[in-house]
This record gives sequence, C-alpha cells and structure tokens, in this order.
Amino acid sequence: MLFPLTWFRDFYTEHKFGLATQSFPSWFTDFIIEGLVSTVLFALFVGFLYLVIRRTRDNWWVWASGLSIGFMLFALFISPVFIDPLFNEYRPMDEGPLKERILSIARANGMHADDVKQVDASRQTNRVSANVSGLFGTARIALNDNLLNRADADSVEAVMAHEIGHYVLNHPIKMMLALLPILLAIFFFTNLIFRALLGRKGGDWGVRGIDDYAGFPLLAAILTVVGLLATPFFQRVVYMQEYEADLFAINATQNPDAWATVALLTAEYRKLEPSDFEENWFNHHPSPYKRIYMAMRWKAEHLRPDEVKEIPPAVVVPSLRD
Ligand SMILES: [Zn+2]
Repeated sequence: MLFPLTWFRDFYTEHKFGLATQSFPSWFTDFIIEGLVSTVLFALFVGFLYLVIRRTRDNWWVWASGLSIGFMLFALFISPVFIDPLFNEYRPMDEGPLKERILSIARANGMHADDVKQVDASRQTNRVSANVSGLFGTARIALNDNLLNRADADSVEAVMAHEIGHYVLNHPIKMMLALLPILLAIFFFTNLIFRALLGRKGGDWGVRGIDDYAGFPLLAAILTVVGLLATPFFQRVVYMQEYEADLFAINATQNPDAWATVALLTAEYRKLEPSDFEENWFNHHPSPYKRIYMAMRWKAEHLRPDEVKEIPPAVVVPSLRD
C-alpha cells in the first residue's frame, strides 16, 4: 500500500542524490523480502496482541506495552542471524593492523569481541556507516565497505569506537527501558480513544468491543496516529544514545580530528546544520555540525598549555551556537 511513497523515498530520491547503487529489479526484490519479513512479524504481533486483550481486558494497554518491548527484543535478537543476511553478506573483516586497533578498543573497554564483521553495504548505497545488531549471544558490530573504502584508518577506528560504545554503555537494554513509558502512553491514549469512538459509533460499525477482530482497522488507525505524534519522543531517546556513543568514541580513541572528519562525510545524507528544534526533536543522530562541535570542544579542553594559541578576532564566527 505504501509502495509509491517507499519508492519515492528509498529509490527515486536516493538515486537523484547519487546515494543509491541498486538497479530497480534488485531494489524491488529487497522491498518484497522486507515486506514478507515484516508481514510475518506483524501478523505474529497482532495475534499475540489480541490474546493479551482477551486475557487482560481493561488493563490490556499495560500488557500490550510489555508485549511490544518483548517483540522488539525478539526482533533484535534474531536480526543478525535470520534477517540481516537476507539483504547483505556479512563476513569477518580482513586481518590487519586496523582490525587489531578496533579489537583493542573493545578489549580496553571490557567488551568481549574476537571478531569484527564487514558488510557489503555498497550493494545498496554509497553511504558511509556502521551498525550494531543482536542481543546477548547474537550481538555483533559491523562496519560497511563504503566506510572502509572511503575513509582513512583513523576515521574507521572512530566510527567503530562509536559502535563499541553502544554495547559498552548497554544501550539496547536501556533503550527498551526508556521506550516503555512512551509505549505505555501510546497504548493508554489508544485505549481511551478507541473506547470513546466505540461508545459513539460502535453500533454503526458493527464493532462489539476492544477484543473484537472487527475493530482491528480502527485500532490500527488510532495506533498509527498516536504513534506518529509520539515520534519526537522516540527520536529523543535514540538521539541521547547516539550522543553518548559519540562522546564515548572521542574519549576511547582520543582522536577528535578523526571524529570531526568522518562526521563531515555523513553530511552527504544528513542536514549539516539543522535548527535547534529540528536537531532536538526530529534528528535521531546528532547533525554533522553538532558532532564536529563536540569533537572540537573535547579537543579544546585537552590542549596542553603550550598548544593554546590566541585566535585572531577575524576568525571567530559570532553566530556559532552551542
Ligand atoms: Zn550509533
């Protein structure tokens, strides 16, 4: 149903800006596979949701929030093993000094890692990136081949230190804990609105109650609207973790210049300097501007006294924000 929008966003626009590398048939195959995977997971979720609604009645919205967290944990756990390999090939990174540097940062921070994965992200995009996925036994960090081909060793190390940071700081579990109150609010208001509409129109629509399958389109519509309104809160939670992982990377590598360099590379696909409002409520990652600012702030605070120089007044840009 959302195909035209997805095509416009993920295929047309990405090609227009020279970021996508996939032909239409190849992209469309990925689109179908992704659709099948999410349909299976979504059907499972809806099945369990109605089970929860029928068992817990008036308190269903509390249990549905817990169920959502359980599903997210499940998807995160199986993702590196069953889902990610459907789209890309993950293989161990080539042995060498760079891999050793990355593993050294992991060891220094108490992360048990004996391998770093490399993913052929260039199959879909030119974007420079890396990712973390999995939980407990399936946890892994992976850098993409674009990063390896387009950035220098210091920058690759900085990005991987950021990914290691997510694990050292226990971000996946903290994320779930932070999302719980947001989910509780979403299901609470959905329940309220559903019951109010049911009281007025339930008879006309042939919906007998919250536990009636006939009410599913209404339930889905309300959840979608309430979920959309909650977007800034979701973004805020993700943003805070990304900000922490950025600081972790700069501290772990002691190399703010590398962080600033690679932050600039992400300006290819992220707005360089959004407004404070956009940055704080709609960005899920700090903007390149913010990341470079963080790196330079760190650097300034770590200068030795003999390195501190007076900056000529002409160089100071008065409009720089915090
Ligand atoms: Zn991150």
